[in-house]
Amino acid sequence: MYILDTILPHISYSKSSLPFAKATFSVLAYDTRKIRVGDDSLFFALVQQRDGHRFIAEAYEKGVRSFVISDTAFDISPYPEANFIWVADTLRALQQIATFHRNHFSIPIIGITGSNGKTIVKTWLHQLISEEYNCYQSPKSYNSQLGVALSLWNLTSEHQIALIEAGVSKVGEMDILEEMIQPTIGICTSIGPAHQEGFDSITQKLEEKWKLFKSVKTVVAPSTVLEDVLNKYPNCTTWGRDRTDDLQLLGQHRDKNNTILELFYKEQAFSLTVPFIDKASIDNVMTCTLVMLTLGYATDVIKLRILGLRPLEMRLQLKKGKHNNSIIDDTYSNDLASLQIALDFLAQQNQGEVRKLILSDFEGEEWTKSSVSKLADLLNVQPLNQIILVGNRLKGVKAHLTVPSLLFESTDALLDSLQQLNLTDSVLLLKGGRKFELERVSRLLVEKSHDTILEINLKALENNLSQYRSCLKNGVRIMAMVKAFSYGSGSFEIANVLQFNKVDYLTVAFVDEGAELRRAGITLPIMVLSPHEGTFEDMLLYRLEPEIYSLRILKAFVSFLEERKIEAYPIHLKLDTGMHRLGFMTDEIQEALTTICANPTVRVATVFSHLAGAGSEALKSFTTGQIGLFEYMVAKIESTLGYTVIKHICNTSGIVHHPEAHYDMVRLGIGAYGFDMAPNGLQLEDVGRLKTTITQIKQLSKTETVGYDRKGVLQRDSRIATVKIGYADGYDRRLGNGVGNMVINGRSVPTVGNICMDMCMLDVTDIDVAEGDEVLVFPNMSEIARSIGTIPYELLTGISSRVKRVYFYE
Ligand SMILES: *Cc1c(COP(=O)(O)O)cnc(C)c1O
Repeated sequence: MYILDTILPHISYSKSSLPFAKATFSVLAYDTRKIRVGDDSLFFALVQQRDGHRFIAEAYEKGVRSFVISDTAFDISPYPEANFIWVADTLRALQQIATFHRNHFSIPIIGITGSNGKTIVKTWLHQLISEEYNCYQSPKSYNSQLGVALSLWNLTSEHQIALIEAGVSKVGEMDILEEMIQPTIGICTSIGPAHQEGFDSITQKLEEKWKLFKSVKTVVAPSTVLEDVLNKYPNCTTWGRDRTDDLQLLGQHRDKNNTILELFYKEQAFSLTVPFIDKASIDNVMTCTLVMLTLGYATDVIKLRILGLRPLEMRLQLKKGKHNNSIIDDTYSNDLASLQIALDFLAQQNQGEVRKLILSDFEGEEWTKSSVSKLADLLNVQPLNQIILVGNRLKGVKAHLTVPSLLFESTDALLDSLQQLNLTDSVLLLKGGRKFELERVSRLLVEKSHDTILEINLKALENNLSQYRSCLKNGVRIMAMVKAFSYGSGSFEIANVLQFNKVDYLTVAFVDEGAELRRAGITLPIMVLSPHEGTFEDMLLYRLEPEIYSLRILKAFVSFLEERKIEAYPIHLKLDTGMHRLGFMTDEIQEALTTICANPTVRVATVFSHLAGAGSEALKSFTTGQIGLFEYMVAKIESTLGYTVIKHICNTSGIVHHPEAHYDMVRLGIGAYGFDMAPNGLQLEDVGRLKTTITQIKQLSKTETVGYDRKGVLQRDSRIATVKIGYADGYDRRLGNGVGNMVINGRSVPTVGNICMDMCMLDVTDIDVAEGDEVLVFPNMSEIARSIGTIPYELLTGISSRVKRVYFYE
């Protein structure tokens, strides 16, 4: 906890207005949606994504009384009880406060950077050394300019060592991260082509990353990243296959699902059994081993701990539960920072009225009076109906809870009583450390799955949304298209995230899709693209707003409303400016307007049209023509109606390619899910990843054939893997016979023979795989779509509903 005026000397501020200079704070807030106890927060009006100044009123409403802002013209008079500090750059000020906080600690701080593997190395190290140290790790992948600052803020005097992840995407960023973290030990995991966009060359990227190590004593790195520049970095401790490496890899071989490594360190040879077979995991184990050696661990301790490593499920997953529950599964690690993130995610869920938390004890850390009250304070302000605690050491916490709670001494005790707890119709957050194995609870609560799953990354959805948002002028609204089961990605799970991220409208194709969203607690206005007369009743019941595209549907809707004496029901007028699908043509609009003006039953909420080739350079003049016709028709509509309406015409590609036509709102579709058919400079992330597993592997001689009609003719003795996905799951039959390819352990393999209904076969002759290995089905959606003459839209929406959707947020 800090007193406001004591931090002033540590930030570069230009002026201040501090009527309550002795106010205290312990939370750095920047997102009003996440504020639970306002009066304990110092709010930063960040401007990187959305202008934070616009949310000051809301923050004030929630009790925040101290603000750091940059807008010198901001009118503070409506906030008489608040403190204001003006700075040139609010993010910079937040970083300065984090640095000030970090400077209170003289513990070893391990700074981790690299292109791949940062989060895994961090989490594994935490697992490997937690028995000896009260070890802090930055939560999830909080490694950005903001994430690092927030990570450091959570350091407390009880921690004995800290692992902080640092990620950079362009030149210049690392200096600031270094200034904040001031690591005493450095780790570089790898330097690869990932995130290359912001750099001219790998060397430049390496140099940028190395800025993190400006004043460390030791840097642990693979010698391959340094190659000829190694001598530039004398404080390096390296691992690799060279004699000169401090930790030398003499050899390795596979034994079932393990890899045995023969190693040499300081004149001592030893071997390690690693419970993984893929190269990335081996690399990460090498890094972790060398760090442990550097910290002085004995090889037999290292051996034992490495053997106990498990694959990472650091993901916070949202799954469909039995008994109408939703399960948020975050059972991999537990500490205050990641608990906070999981609770925020829980608060976002609207699909059940009742929210419950199952929480295990934290690992390692001793509970002190202050950490007990910190946890209790955090829990008491959450929208929770019940808390179920696991672990006797949480007794002290239970005594401080105001929410109804239960305590079980162990996971086994909880499992014994699970039936009696009556967990139905709720959203359940399972949050626990690895040792507590809450995944055993999760397994009982979650609906059984078919082995093929579509993983939906909700964080990627948020990222894509903010990428498109950054293309819009202030005040332009976003209508998010969630038709066709959100392009195959889910319904309320996606809509909850969009609602939380304050899009303005949602759009579905049919009334029943909209009804499902309403039943799941979505309150945003929802437009329906293809309403018809039989569904008007439900439309009203669920407060859905129709697209009106013809005189017939207009008249039908108006008379339906008249019978019920309803007034000013919002409708959306669709104009046909050249797409020639649905909508009023120029010569039909007058009659529509006459009907609307004569009927107080409806009110035009928005007027819109659809571009036929928004992303196409070749169709540019056609698009310009559509836009011109739209403006002409809109002008006529507004003057006849006598009021202004919200206007919109751009879909995803229109947003990027026709900024002149954003008007009042844009309709974001496929781009939100990570695809944009026209090239653009945005950094989109795939939201969906379709995954399956290998059911069987067989060795066949070159005289054999594979699959129906003997179409899979082998050219050589081959190893063939059967995977559990077929055309009934949405794996198009045209992808058979080598047209499609999937990725296993990072390697691409072609299909063999015809695709079957529930399965297909892959040629895995050239790679090291085992039954049960995970298979990525669409490694490159756009390219695969093109190879069979279709578009990602069709592949995405074609993924069958029997493929379970698993949502995660990391
Ligand atoms: C589907 C749809 C969109 C979104 O298109 P994307 O290309 O996916 O962005 C926009 N407007 C209308 C009317 C649509 O039907």
